[in-house]
Amino acid sequence: MSDIFLPGFFLNFMTKNCIFCHIPADRILYQNEYCLYFRDAFPISLGHTLIIPKRHIASIFDANEMEHSAFFSALSNARQEIDKEFNLDSYNIGINDGQEAGQTVPHLHIHLIPRYKGDCVDPRGGVRWIMPDKAKYWDE
Ligand code: 5GP
Ligand code: ZN
Repeated sequence: MSDIFLPGFFLNFMTKNCIFCHIPADRILYQNEYCLYFRDAFPISLGHTLIIPKRHIASIFDANEMEHSAFFSALSNARQEIDKEFNLDSYNIGINDGQEAGQTVPHLHIHLIPRYKGDCVDPRGGVRWIMPDKAKYWDE
């Protein structure tokens, strides 16, 4: 669903009630014309970062080409900064797109989750662990 077709008052209502449309300026670590990033308030790991469009859209499928390219610039910048600060080389990058996929804040956000050696017993499978009983597809 594109916001272009939403009546103005509805879009204003969503934006007004959206926490990600009102991230305090001092929490924003980077911004470009179309997106920005900040640290997750309930981080899964040290450096857990959320990259969001400035425009209030819920889904990556509503993003335009300028936003796509801005997301990758921001992602790459965030990764460089985190890498410099925490010295690591593994990340999970993910989007919960839609309620059934677990999205709780209806403003598109890309999770950039740094992963550290030993932060879990066996990291194999990574994002497959959204379905714990299907995550493990390999034989020991
Ligand atoms: P979702 O479940 O929609 O993919 O992720 C929402 C994310 O937003 C969660 O990781 C949660 O910790 C984060 N979050 C929720 N409220 C706030 C907030 O007020 N500030 C920040 N920085 N992150 C938040
Ligand atoms: Zn919003």
